[in-house]
Amino acid sequence: MDPRLLPLFAPLTTLRGVGPALATKLARVAGGERVLDLLFHMPDGYLDRSSMPLMAEAPEGAIVTLLVEVVGIEEGRAPRPWKVMIRDRSGFGEIAFFGRRPPAAFTVGAGLAVSGKIERFNGRVQLRNPERVAPAAQAAAIAGLEPVWPLTAGLFPGQVRGAMRQAVALVPELPEWHERSLLARERWPSFRDALTAVQVPAAMPDPAARQRLAYDEVLAQQLALGWARQRERKRPGRAIRGDGRLRDEALRRFGFALTPAQAGALAEIDADLGQPTRMLRLLQGDVGSGKTLVAVLAMLSVAEAGLQAALMAPTELLALQHFRTISALSPVPVVLLTGSVKGAERRAAMEGIGSGRFPLVIGTHALFQDAVAYRDLGLAVIDEQHRFGVEQRLQLGGKGARTDVLVMTATPIPRTLLLTQWGEMAVSRLRGKPGGRRPIRTTIHSLATFPTVLDGIDRALGRGEQVYWICPLVSESEVLDVAAAEERFALLRERFGDRVGLAHGRQDAAVRDAALGEFAAGRVRLLVATTVVEVGVDVPAATVMVIEHAERFGLAQLHQLRGRVGRGSAQSFCLLLHDDGLSETMRRRLVLLRDTEDGFRIADEDFRIRGGGDGLGTRQSGLPGFRLADAEQQERLLDIAHQDAAMLLERDPRLEGERGLAVRLLMRLFERKEAVQTLAAG
Ligand code: ADP
Ligand code: MG
Repeated sequence: MDPRLLPLFAPLTTLRGVGPALATKLARVAGGERVLDLLFHMPDGYLDRSSMPLMAEAPEGAIVTLLVEVVGIEEGRAPRPWKVMIRDRSGFGEIAFFGRRPPAAFTVGAGLAVSGKIERFNGRVQLRNPERVAPAAQAAAIAGLEPVWPLTAGLFPGQVRGAMRQAVALVPELPEWHERSLLARERWPSFRDALTAVQVPAAMPDPAARQRLAYDEVLAQQLALGWARQRERKRPGRAIRGDGRLRDEALRRFGFALTPAQAGALAEIDADLGQPTRMLRLLQGDVGSGKTLVAVLAMLSVAEAGLQAALMAPTELLALQHFRTISALSPVPVVLLTGSVKGAERRAAMEGIGSGRFPLVIGTHALFQDAVAYRDLGLAVIDEQHRFGVEQRLQLGGKGARTDVLVMTATPIPRTLLLTQWGEMAVSRLRGKPGGRRPIRTTIHSLATFPTVLDGIDRALGRGEQVYWICPLVSESEVLDVAAAEERFALLRERFGDRVGLAHGRQDAAVRDAALGEFAAGRVRLLVATTVVEVGVDVPAATVMVIEHAERFGLAQLHQLRGRVGRGSAQSFCLLLHDDGLSETMRRRLVLLRDTEDGFRIADEDFRIRGGGDGLGTRQSGLPGFRLADAEQQERLLDIAHQDAAMLLERDPRLEGERGLAVRLLMRLFERKEAVQTLAAG
């Protein structure tokens, strides 16, 4: 590491006055235990203590710094506070200390600067538990602007302030990594000046300071992605062209023609496969829009060209389901490889993957473990992308030096999120659903109408249909949530007997998969589940989806859940049960869901309301992985950073020029690990 950065990567305990206990508290709020983490612990706002009025003129409620002389001290006894009589040339006042003694500086005759909020008591100025005190001669030290940092139990502002001052002093003057023209246009200060302005402010910081830091963070991330992408590109792909014979046969077996949307997406994928560069494409389509079929046909094209194609699903159950669907369609051998394929069967699978006897391979992340050697992997398809991290993506890319990648997701991903997770990625969208499907009838009910709902369920079961019953997983304690689901299960079982099954997140994976399997096989008719079915099974006979406490779910998640029904030709229903006392916003959300099945609209709305979709596994606000950039800034900054990074990497692909070297420091500071590791290698 560049020696200039070393002090910033040192533990917090290297700061004066910071012992292990304080370091632990600081680390808790800062999200890390190094000096750098503290530096990036941004204040929520500022307290201005610079006003120094005379007591008689101090406005009630204002935060001020008073210059006073101590004229008397009155001992307190709980609940009566200690009182310190004070005066200045405008009159007398008092300071009350509740729950503690006045600090030692309070002796009769002492001249002090004290800062706090002005209250008036019997017409007299009173300061309760003043937050800051200093000898009058040092008033300037407290009569200023004070950052307000998020704290934790037992951590006081003064402690953060003391540590922060030292931390900021450790920041070296670093070479500028931004373009001069950008700095001038945005009026941004240097990195060090920006940190100083924000963390140890002399005056209210210019918003430009905070913005510069946010941009630093966003650019570091875009550079890291650009860097990784560039390395991928360096390893050329190859042009893959099938002759259509396997594809035609699969479509014949399928029995339906492709929808125009499917045909369009497939044409885009074919074009990418035919290019000598590596494909990285996202296939985005609502639940039930027919992505799987598109993926299978793409995979078969690759098989026609004599290469292998693998599909990775997020769970064993989904892998098994894909395996069945694809086996039924594929004219060439298909193999399943998951964690539970063991012994001789596993050896045979591995051997066949290695020899190329299996052109199509379906599985879970087990597919990309080191032990699995493909003969020649041409295409990797990843289902439900948001379950996988960047690390796994890189691991997968490493499986075949020239492997094309297709990612399928049911969650429409906003552009900003795509940029942050993938840098750049071509997108094919499947809008609408294959014909012949009836819209799902969605209705909203108060939980109070429970008995009526049960009667409706009874009728559906009587018609031979199947029912999902979803219980929310939301409380602090998963145990409590599961208990609620178990209770619901017991109640429904009482009414409907052993046709009722249960699946939840605290069960053993095998037990849970068995329960879902029973439901898929039709032996269980009503499945009580927590959100484990969200990315779930395809059970065409399931026509009723009941979601309890629908108000506790995100819209996108509700939409995903609803997509589990309406897969067959019978009319399907979705019942949203809510608590009484639904807020207006909550009601509007449920109504939106009732009135539309357009996943793109719903996701947009959800993203707007929550500032980040919950179905995406992101934090409640803003984009994941950012500490300095807030949601509002991200959109604009991301666009600039994306272009900025692309241009720099084009001009200086090895980051060796003056700006390139400076930018390496930036990437270090923001720890874009994936990239930083390869910076050394590349
Ligand atoms: P997704 O993977 O996008 O959730 P699927 O590929 O599972 O959707 O498709 C949903 C259902 O639609 C499946 O039962 C599938 O067989 C059916 N399907 C897909 N494409 C077509 C088509 N072109 N015509 C008729 N049915 C289709
Ligand atoms: Mg699917």
